Amino acid sequence: MRPVIVIVGRPNVGKSTLFNRLSRSRNALVDDQPGVTRDRIYASLQIEGVPLDLVDTGGFEDLGQDPLLKEVRGQVERGIAEADRVIFVVDGRAGVMPGDQEMADLLRKRQKDVVLGVNKVDGPEHDFRIHDFHSLGLGTPFGISAAHGYGFGDFKDALIKNLPAQQEEQENPNQIRVAVLGRPNAGKSSLINRILRDERLLVSDTPGTTRDAVDSIFHHRGREYLFIDTAGIRRRGKVKERIEKFSIVKALRSLDRCHVAVILLDGERGISEQDTRICGYALDRGRGLVLAVNKWDLIKRDPGERDQIRTAFERQMKFVSFAPRVHLSALTGERVMSLFQSIDMVYEQFSTRISTGAVNRALRQIVERHPPQRIGRGRLKFLYATQARTRPPTFILMVNRPDLVHFSYKRFLTNQFREHFGLTNTPIKLKFKER
Ligand code: GDP
Ligand code: GDP
Repeated sequence: MRPVIVIVGRPNVGKSTLFNRLSRSRNALVDDQPGVTRDRIYASLQIEGVPLDLVDTGGFEDLGQDPLLKEVRGQVERGIAEADRVIFVVDGRAGVMPGDQEMADLLRKRQKDVVLGVNKVDGPEHDFRIHDFHSLGLGTPFGISAAHGYGFGDFKDALIKNLPAQQEEQENPNQIRVAVLGRPNAGKSSLINRILRDERLLVSDTPGTTRDAVDSIFHHRGREYLFIDTAGIRRRGKVKERIEKFSIVKALRSLDRCHVAVILLDGERGISEQDTRICGYALDRGRGLVLAVNKWDLIKRDPGERDQIRTAFERQMKFVSFAPRVHLSALTGERVMSLFQSIDMVYEQFSTRISTGAVNRALRQIVERHPPQRIGRGRLKFLYATQARTRPPTFILMVNRPDLVHFSYKRFLTNQFREHFGLTNTPIKLKFKER
């Protein structure tokens, strides 16, 4: 799992400017998946070679769940609780404000690992603005300019210093790790409880390897499934409601650990922005994806509603059109078990390995039939290709000049690879390297 750094601070201090500056390097990392909109609140990135996740709590206000400030504060608090490190941004121009003091108290009380960024210190002539902030009692304040980059050398060093190292989960070859994600009330708890109850098969809650996540193991048709972090999900009713609002950091952690993410959509309410966002994260991380439309019992007999869902998928979920879709009802149990067929199928493809010979034969065929167009004066040439890794299938293509790969040609090749190798239901990655 990658360490998570969360940005907090009062409105207008420059959190999103900082987020943008830090996540700019992301371009190089994320294979440009057309259709994925840039997320303003979460980015998976590297700072000086150290991989981490960055979350801007300022964006939480937009999740459209509850406009009350109290709720926003709750979100921020949860974000802080789950973070490995917090960047606390203050406005150097404004000086120490009461809100800063309040936040500093909270962070100190929680004993969080804080890096204090005094923003809007746009050059050495502003350095005097930093001193006041020693009074917050959060260690050395760093004078930075999120807008112009001043002070970023030391600041970045502080961000990555002594971060907990990335932990790789031990792979159990016979076990499929599944994360069930979705917005509150989509029916996650109903689904998980039904799965774990219906089959009356061995169910054991095992303490997860990290951060007290409690997972559930489930056996079905000779396979073992590990449902990630089910403790919070399984709790029912009021107790749950109070503590289990959507948490982005939690969702990221579950995504990190899973092979296949089941995004549970609330069929009755349609696809929300939060749903597409989670799908974007899953895609970013190259996780297998199954889209489950829940509460089908309520909509299956209404052609109008079914049409609406179909249109919503075409409009909002096109960028993950490779993900199989299951219509189910956690309430009646209808098609809940067929969810496993989809999970199995995605997992098989997700784990597929294609021999180098087969990859190259296919590549030659594809390129012969549809050679890349000339860009400027250069012509793209393919030397050879190989599958560098699985989960997801990742192919390296050696070319004369990677800069000549047009994104539309990359998309074309990606689709061709999917078809050639039966990888139509898993994310795959193509990387171009210069020979
Ligand atoms: P947020 O509400 O905390 O996310 O703040 P924003 O990132 O939206 O920034 C608020 C305002 O401060 C905007 O007008 C920014 O242009 C400005 N701003 C952000 N960073 C800097 C900086 O480093 N220097 C100066 N002078 N202005 C900045
Ligand atoms: P969670 O917040 O995602 O865990 O959602 P819950 O499992 O607590 O379900 C939220 C509400 O939706 C509850 O009132 C459930 O009874 C209801 N619900 C869940 N699944 C279904 C379904 O398939 N059909 C119908 N009609 N209601 C459902």
